[in-house]
Amino acid sequence: MTTSSLKKLYLDFFVKKGHQIIPSASLVPENDPTALFISAGMHPLVPYLLGEPHPLGKKLCSVQRCLRTGDIDFVGDGFHHTFFEMLGNWSLGDYWKKEAIGYSWEFLTKILQIPAEKISVSCFAGDQDAPRDEETAQIWQNLGIPREKIHFLGKKENWWGPIGQTGPCGPDTEMFYDTGKPVCGPDCNVACQCGKYLEIWNDVFMQYEKTAAGRYRWLKQRNVDTGMGVERVTAVLSGFEGDDYRTDAFWPIVEKIQSVSGQKYAGKNQVLMRIIADHLRAAVFLINDGVRPGNIEQGYVVRRLLRRAAVKMRLLTGKLASAGELKLITDTIKAKKELAAVIGEEMVKFEKTLDRGLRQVKKSKNFDGKTAFDLYQSYGFPFEITQELAQECGQKISQQAFAKELTQHQQISRQGATKKFAGGLADHSAVVTKYHTATHLLQQALRDVLGDQVHQIGSNITAERLRFDFTHPQALTSEEIEKVEKIVNQKIKAGLPVTMTTMSLAEAKKQGGLAFFEGRYADKVKMYSIGDYSKEVCGGPHVTSTREIGSIKVTRQKAVGAGRRRLYATLAHGS
Ligand code: ATP
Ligand code: MG
Repeated sequence: MTTSSLKKLYLDFFVKKGHQIIPSASLVPENDPTALFISAGMHPLVPYLLGEPHPLGKKLCSVQRCLRTGDIDFVGDGFHHTFFEMLGNWSLGDYWKKEAIGYSWEFLTKILQIPAEKISVSCFAGDQDAPRDEETAQIWQNLGIPREKIHFLGKKENWWGPIGQTGPCGPDTEMFYDTGKPVCGPDCNVACQCGKYLEIWNDVFMQYEKTAAGRYRWLKQRNVDTGMGVERVTAVLSGFEGDDYRTDAFWPIVEKIQSVSGQKYAGKNQVLMRIIADHLRAAVFLINDGVRPGNIEQGYVVRRLLRRAAVKMRLLTGKLASAGELKLITDTIKAKKELAAVIGEEMVKFEKTLDRGLRQVKKSKNFDGKTAFDLYQSYGFPFEITQELAQECGQKISQQAFAKELTQHQQISRQGATKKFAGGLADHSAVVTKYHTATHLLQQALRDVLGDQVHQIGSNITAERLRFDFTHPQALTSEEIEKVEKIVNQKIKAGLPVTMTTMSLAEAKKQGGLAFFEGRYADKVKMYSIGDYSKEVCGGPHVTSTREIGSIKVTRQKAVGAGRRRLYATLAHGS
């Protein structure tokens, strides 16, 4: 079984069950300031899960690219990756538990022909907020799963949401494949990560709404949201259960690492090779989605992935991977042309920082956890490397001292990350909506002033500012910026109505709608028109009249790579 044949089987199955296919969104959320990456298939669907009608209807399915930096420490086992693809099907207020679980069961046992006796499931055990999900357990039992393979677990394992303080949430039911390995101890169960039970699929039932008062009440629109890992399931179906690296998603990369390093994918090299393959693949997909190595946010993640891969190559071969070697490896992954240049440039930089880092290591007389952590933080040196370097200088650092620094830091950044996630997603607040409409006006005004070659390559909105990336060969002059601001402010003052119609992408383009994310659109799209001034294919939401926006001020511009510019703008709020 290949990953692409699994994806096809899945989509075909759900189309037959009346679902519409939605294309994968970019790994970088387009209009969601609250998260760095898309981490599940449901993530781009949040507005629709909250009740906005989806242009394709109530039954959807997709293959979504996902990135989970939170799983980076698991990478090295055979089934957690930073980048992976998730299959998903959704009911937006349409079918419910019986149908959803029935589909999962039919797909696993009939289409994929996984023997029923290999499957166990978990259901929500119940607590003070919501009762035990006996309904779900009963459905599984009726399908033929014996009671002893139905496990009841708590909130940590079998509950989803809400994303922020309030909103949709509910129990889920997870499906596990028993690899046949022995249990790892008396407490080993489906929730254990030892690799005996592989979680393959999760069906989430959004049936409650958590209110501001902390109560859980029945939700009006009840949704089903499911997620299945492409790599894990392909491995199971190919007889490589628990080792996704043997599937076509990774094996060509692993083979290239073997030939470049002259080592075998076995023993302790196996973990190193998995990390290298995982990180390079994730970096390639991020670069493909427009991320460039840098020191903040998404860019920093790509940088760390590439550096960590290069450093792991050093552990494998005794020397740091060269740009050329990384290129050979990443060539095995389908990618855009500019990739090699991006990786090459980053590796040259890294060789330099690594040099500086090495000098610092040689200088420091007393290695301690803090030194190791600083090297880790500033130069991307994993602890093992620092430890080795210390040894070369006849010094020793304790793993505990480093771990202590690291945990402290992780707690801080995790708080940051949860805040980032919790802060919004659902928070398509009034201000963000204004920025969103302003972005459409800005794009049209830039085209008026600079020419039609201008098109959006990305945008990012927070409650404080908008950021807009577009194609343009040189810096804007201050006159050009003034002109752009003036046009946008005129259009805001004019109080143009913002309207939305649903149509095919071809029709939207025919009507002059801007749509610059090729391949990312579904068959039916939403086209937003701002008076006669701007037409753009977009998911929304938007203000109803431009007057609500207030006024715009461009605050900053910069280059973001050859032929790409970035503008920042803020709004002074209107009515
Ligand atoms: P796990 O407990 O194995 O980490 P999870 O509970 O975090 O998984 P979900 O958030 O329910 O997983 O995601 C849905 C599905 O996506 C999982 O059932 C699994 O098949 C897949 N999946 C989740 N995380 C990863 C990952 N890091 N790498 C590969 N596949 C994953
Ligand atoms: Mg899960």
